[in-house]
Amino acid sequence: MSLTPGDYDADNIRGSDADVKKHPTLYFDNGDIIVICPFREKDKGYQHFRVDQIFLSRHSPIFKTTVSLPTGPGPSQEDSMEGVSVMRVPDDAEDMEGFLKAMYEPSSLFFKRFSPETSLRMKGTLKLATKYEARSIRDALICVLKEDWWTTYKEWELRQDYQDRQVAHGHKNLDEILPEPASCYRLAVEFNIPSIRFSTLYALACVPWAGNDRGTVRKKRQPAKDVEQGKHITVNWDLLDRDDLFKVGKARQILARKIVALPQEMKDQRHPAYFHRTPGPCQAIWEGLDTRKGSRCVVTEEPDLLLEWRAVHAELSKLCSDCMTPLDNYWNKLWAQLEGDFDKILRG
Ligand SMILES: [Zn+2]
Repeated sequence: MSLTPGDYDADNIRGSDADVKKHPTLYFDNGDIIVICPFREKDKGYQHFRVDQIFLSRHSPIFKTTVSLPTGPGPSQEDSMEGVSVMRVPDDAEDMEGFLKAMYEPSSLFFKRFSPETSLRMKGTLKLATKYEARSIRDALICVLKEDWWTTYKEWELRQDYQDRQVAHGHKNLDEILPEPASCYRLAVEFNIPSIRFSTLYALACVPWAGNDRGTVRKKRQPAKDVEQGKHITVNWDLLDRDDLFKVGKARQILARKIVALPQEMKDQRHPAYFHRTPGPCQAIWEGLDTRKGSRCVVTEEPDLLLEWRAVHAELSKLCSDCMTPLDNYWNKLWAQLEGDFDKILRG
């Protein structure tokens, strides 16, 4: 991207001296550029950061161009303050603080894993890292998000194991030990992070959603009335717009359809010349699949296909390898289909 003169409309972002607030830590006496940003609450005035041009230009090709401009539409280079150049930008001071900290205090890029706060805390930094093409900062943040989510079934299992262990150790409130899916999904969409779009949409699609099917949005993060507290994460539905909710609804339909079809499709994987005709352990296990059918309708309210597959797969784990191999092949195919279907929804 490039910066346009409008980005630097000096009248909009120029503060009077009375508004000047030097940042308590990101204001270095020997810094050679002062970056000025408005606070999010406009009547709070402007934050001044005094930093190093070399840092800005090393991290961002956009800044590299703008700080080297002698004059022009970029930051107002005619300005100077305390003998150094001044760059006025329209970004919120709170976002800029996170962005500059990422350069000067790399430890600010460490986030607690699986914290519901992470997506909100990193949003401003990610926004500016994306806008100013600061690749290493953006990559580091995306890495954090990827660690919190999953892209393969194996990764999903590891995350599920973590969740199960936490619950076994007495953590009743899943909201405290898992990332919040709506905010992460929005990050994925707004800042183009394909690697977490699938899993965040999946997570949203699995949360019971009573009352929302016609686009009514619950404003607070709370579970549906009929949902057992602590058994599910809850979602900040108000972060999602109608288009997002439509996509979540589509994803739910797909999962529900697949979960209902699962037992029969698994049975269909048996070799046509099924050789366990005489009563034996395999036959009894296969027949056990029939007993799952009756409960499927209930499951569609929380159509967690992966959880269901894990449960059924565990039940079938005593099957011989002749029976098991086609099942695993089937699952790989189903996973690829699911990724394809979700991709279509996300592009739609
Ligand atoms: Zn067998």
